[in-house]
Amino acid sequence: MAGARVVEEILKRAPDQFEITMFGAEPYGNYNRILLSNVLNGSQSATDIFMNPLSWYRENNIRLHAGVRAMLIDRERKVVVGSALKRDALAYSVDAPTDPSSNVIEEPYDNVIIATGSRPFVPPMEGFGGAGTFLFRTIDDCSRIADYARNNRKAAVIGGGLLGLEAARGLLTHGVEVTVLEAGPQLMGVQLDPEAGDMLRKTIEGMGIKVLCGTITTKIARADGQITHLEFKDGSTLETDMVVVSTGIRPITEIATASGLNVNRGIVCDDQMHTSDSDIYSLGECVEHRGQLYGLVDPIWEQANVLADVITGVKPDAAYFGSKLGTKLKVMGVELASMGETKPAGSDDEVVVYREPSKGLYKKLIVRGGHIAGAILLGDIEAAGTLMQMFFTGAKAPARRADLLFGSPTGVALLKASDLPDNAQICNCNGISKATIVDAIQNKSCLSVSKVGACTKAGLGCGSCKSLVAQLLEHYVGEVGYDPTEHYYVPGVPLEKSQLVKEIRNRGIKSVSEVFAQLAGGQEDPSSKVGLASLLKTLWPEEYEDERDARFINDRVHANIQKDGTFSVVPRIYAGVTSADELMRIAQVAVKYKVPMVKLTGGQRIDLLGIKKHDLPNVWRELGMPSGHAYTKAFRTCKSCVGTDFCRYGVGDSIELAQKIERRFQGVESPHKMKLATAGCPRNCSEAYVKDLGAVAIEGGKWEIYIGGAAGGSVRKGDILVTVDSHDGVLLYMGRFMQYYREHGKYLERTYGFVERVGIETLRQILVEDSLGICARLDADIQKAVDAYIDPWDEAEVPAYPAQFSGPELSYALEVAESNG
Ligand code: SF4
Repeated sequence: MAGARVVEEILKRAPDQFEITMFGAEPYGNYNRILLSNVLNGSQSATDIFMNPLSWYRENNIRLHAGVRAMLIDRERKVVVGSALKRDALAYSVDAPTDPSSNVIEEPYDNVIIATGSRPFVPPMEGFGGAGTFLFRTIDDCSRIADYARNNRKAAVIGGGLLGLEAARGLLTHGVEVTVLEAGPQLMGVQLDPEAGDMLRKTIEGMGIKVLCGTITTKIARADGQITHLEFKDGSTLETDMVVVSTGIRPITEIATASGLNVNRGIVCDDQMHTSDSDIYSLGECVEHRGQLYGLVDPIWEQANVLADVITGVKPDAAYFGSKLGTKLKVMGVELASMGETKPAGSDDEVVVYREPSKGLYKKLIVRGGHIAGAILLGDIEAAGTLMQMFFTGAKAPARRADLLFGSPTGVALLKASDLPDNAQICNCNGISKATIVDAIQNKSCLSVSKVGACTKAGLGCGSCKSLVAQLLEHYVGEVGYDPTEHYYVPGVPLEKSQLVKEIRNRGIKSVSEVFAQLAGGQEDPSSKVGLASLLKTLWPEEYEDERDARFINDRVHANIQKDGTFSVVPRIYAGVTSADELMRIAQVAVKYKVPMVKLTGGQRIDLLGIKKHDLPNVWRELGMPSGHAYTKAFRTCKSCVGTDFCRYGVGDSIELAQKIERRFQGVESPHKMKLATAGCPRNCSEAYVKDLGAVAIEGGKWEIYIGGAAGGSVRKGDILVTVDSHDGVLLYMGRFMQYYREHGKYLERTYGFVERVGIETLRQILVEDSLGICARLDADIQKAVDAYIDPWDEAEVPAYPAQFSGPELSYALEVAESNG
């Protein structure tokens, strides 16, 4: 990251001044290491995190030797000597080795910049290395960890800092039990104080990750080559199948040492980023500057600016004096900002603290001499953009300190972005200065926050600087422009959802192809088809004209494709209550079709995994049960607890209610899946509080209806929409909310995002108080959707098209890929 950044800065200042050659030991161009955990958890691909594509090097006439490690700077001959790590890595090189018979590449130089970064530090322990042990530092590490985790049950992450926690998050998505082991007394000891560290630990444990602090690993024990357990200094042990170590970094300085440069803990540099040889510069995590090493991105951006000013001669006296440290992070989905000191230095320091443990909120401010000396924000970092600017610029803190943590009650900005100097960094994640943003606004017609982001990358990291970007827009052009493309329902039709719904209704459009013909100038966009099909089915439950090419494979064959190309079949079991007769039929099908795995699901259902596509119609027929819709964006299941039938605590008949809910709403399509539950009392055994919709019985024969709960990758307790006194009341309000969500939710927006976006108060006004006068219409429309229900497994008898269940085996890989995205 440092190497690429300094080259970008040099090109900005003097595009044609240098012939530039870059060496990189990894067989890629540069990528954003901060986003590696997204690659591990699968939410981004490796190419998504590349900072510059390989074409960028060509376009800027940069000779890139990727997969070639720079070994030595021969200062007498003035050449850099590199060694290709693997022959095939040279496929990425723009130029072949100097001597084709060897792996050695030599490049002459006038100046060299060393940006070798750092490598993971592995604390002393017996048994690290070999199968099952991993570092977490590179794209290749991510794929190795993910591959290994898929076939194992338990993982230990040694290191409770940022990267360790991110590795733990990534591992969790691969279905392994994860334990984080931290040698220090708390998590993230560099960025947090003990109280915030403890709060973060509780939040992370709530996500299902075990955390052990004060635990020093001494040995990784094996039997028959496989890891069995870890041994700790206090004599205790932990069973595990794999170990990921993420315990800090150490500068990579070998090339500097080999070349005779001054190296202490890092490569020693002066304020102009010169090493002990004035033709050789260095920056980034490999550098020691004024005795300090840096492992955050902001100081590296500052060093890149100074180095580029000096080497191009634009500002030969530019100087780097060291950095104040501040960072914004998202640790396992928990937002966190930390800057400066985490503890007061003495009794003269003012400390302002706000804590709300039940919500995982903690805010702390340390003010010294009227200026911010340090701050921690955990759980809510809305104030981080302003706070960091004030911290970095040394601005005077406002008299009302609380305004810094919660914003000014008058709405007046505490800090005016327009007053900042041109070189003030607005976007810390991507190192974008005020001058760059102002240039985009004034000279490149970027008149909305998203356009500024697309042009400069400002706001594309954690996003907390967007309010400052908006302030700059207001100051320089008078208003913040509206960018409609951000709000299109699907990318291929240039309309927001409400406009799209209006046009579809007014024009009576019933098919996806007609939407493209009438509203997108005849231009079909494959990525928009599935979202449009879902919307059309919501608007025209009976008259919708189904076009099978607007469906993913799962919806074409009404089963969930698995990674080997077979399918999972989940029959509907209303409220999770089955019978001996149904169980016998399921067992007979499992035996007859040699089903490799029969599994109970989290939604109280039975999943038959490993069914071949051509067997699907017979399986459905012989099961004699309707589809459980476990493969699509629609109503899925309604779990129930034992309720009044058998439980001594029950105050409401949760089973009967769940059966009524499931029979009524089965198959109703929606922007994303909807999982429901009913609980017979607030003990909540069926987890109704954390479902998309949940009904919980309370004393007095009443039911509380919760909406917007989640207990998957996101965890959220639902909000109470309304309390009713009958099953019919539950069915009425649940249906009304579903219809409103179907009409107003963005495609693939779960209810928890929808409820947060619209706001529970607004939803209560619309759906309970009928503030818009639409409740009767919503009730009628959800009834139409209910009436239009047809069991899709009826297609066992009459296939929708001839090859529905007979696709060639070779298409499976494509179908898996398609269903993934
Ligand atoms: S939620 Fe209440 S009624 Fe239902 S099983 Fe649990 S304790 Fe019993």
